[in-house]
This record gives sequence, structure tokens and C-alpha cells, in this order.
Amino acid sequence: MIKAILFDLDNTLVDFMQMKHACVEAAVTAMRDVGLKMSHQEATQKIYAIYSKHGIEYQEVFDRFLEEIHLSHPRFLAAAISAYRKTRTLHINPYPGVKETLLELIKRGIELGVVSDAPRKQAWLRLVDAGLDIFFNVVVAFEDTGKLKPNPEPFLMAMEKLHVLPTETIMIGDWPERDMRGAKALGLYTAFARYGTLIDETKLSGADFELYRLNDLIAIVDHLGVPVPIRKESDHQMNLFE
Ligand SMILES: [Mg+2]
Repeated sequence: MIKAILFDLDNTLVDFMQMKHACVEAAVTAMRDVGLKMSHQEATQKIYAIYSKHGIEYQEVFDRFLEEIHLSHPRFLAAAISAYRKTRTLHINPYPGVKETLLELIKRGIELGVVSDAPRKQAWLRLVDAGLDIFFNVVVAFEDTGKLKPNPEPFLMAMEKLHVLPTETIMIGDWPERDMRGAKALGLYTAFARYGTLIDETKLSGADFELYRLNDLIAIVDHLGVPVPIRKESDHQMNLFE
């Protein structure tokens, strides 16, 4: 029986890269609007070069960019950050069907958790911006264990807080080496978020199940067994005539 489902956050629940691209676009436009003399393309490339050096969560990307090109007027930094923040709120969207699927899982008595490598503040901001925070009883972010997936600690902490065993739990994620391998090593079921990944369609994820949309999960949990089985529409109709 499945009692809990753990979700990776970025590119599993929310389309993180789409949001990041929209935010960088907006920040570059805003800096050009206040006088940045550089092509949109060149500025964008420089910003992504900084991200690839310091990591995609790097919070001082615009400080570094402006330092690099010797633009010290604080208006440029303020324009970039302000545009980035406004755009983030609008563009951090759940994948189609995510909220409906989470509701269906809750109806079945399944506990939901997030296990993310993102810093705690950023993980919570994305959950709240996407309107998903209300669905999760447990959120394990980087600072909670100080360990990244596939280390066992983040998975173990989430299961301990939800009072479930690995054999009662499914891990959903878009990163085979971190999300799938880490969970599988502990004996959890694994489901690969194929819809959120950039990896080649033909490449094996190593997961027990493949999800082409999150909603595919419902049939899987119903098959494995859930705490509160949901009666099918057809059962209802039959009962009406009894
Ligand atoms: Mg991910």
C-alpha cells in the first residue's frame, strides 16, 4: 500500500527553467530600458555564464554581471531585481494537472512531501508562488539536512516526518541520478517525471514507473493500493439502481 508520495520540486512540480528564462529576459529588458548599452543577446549570455559558474540558484547574479561590465549605478541593479521578482511571481506555474493530481492523492489518504535540493527560502517561495504550499505536510529543503540528493538523509527525513516506510512511499523526480537513484537505494518506489526532463526520450531513467504527465500517477497508486480507495464513477451509478 502507498501511504506517502515525495516530490522533487523544480521541473517536477513547477516548470523552473521556463520561469528562469522569463525572469532573465525581463531583467535584461529592464536594464536596457534604464540605459544598459549592450545587446539583449550578449547580456543574456553573460548572465547565464555566471549562473553556470555559481549555480542556477545564485542570488547575486546581477551584482556580478554589473560588476563585470563596470556599471556601478544602483539603478541598473534595482531595475534587474525588480523585474526579476515581478516576473517570477507570474511565471512560477505548476505543470498542467498538478493541482488536480495532488487533490486526488489527498482524497486517497496519501501524505504528500517535497524533497528538494533548493535552498529553503527559494523552495518555499516557489511553492507559495505556484499555489502549491497548501498541499504538502512536509518540505525538506537543502538546509534541513545539509545534504543533496542522492544522499539518503533528505529522503529519510521526509519519511520520518510523515511516519512512513520506504516500501509505502513513491519518489517522483526529473533527475535520474539524484531523484531516482537516491530513492531506489533506500527501497522506495520511483516514478520518473518524463514531462519535466530535458534528457533524451530513449535514455532509461532507471525508475519503476514513467510519468508522461503527473496525472499518470493516479492509476499507479490505485494499482499499488491506497489508504482510502476511491470508488469509480461506474460503481456509483450502479448503486443508484440498487
Ligand atoms: Mg528537479
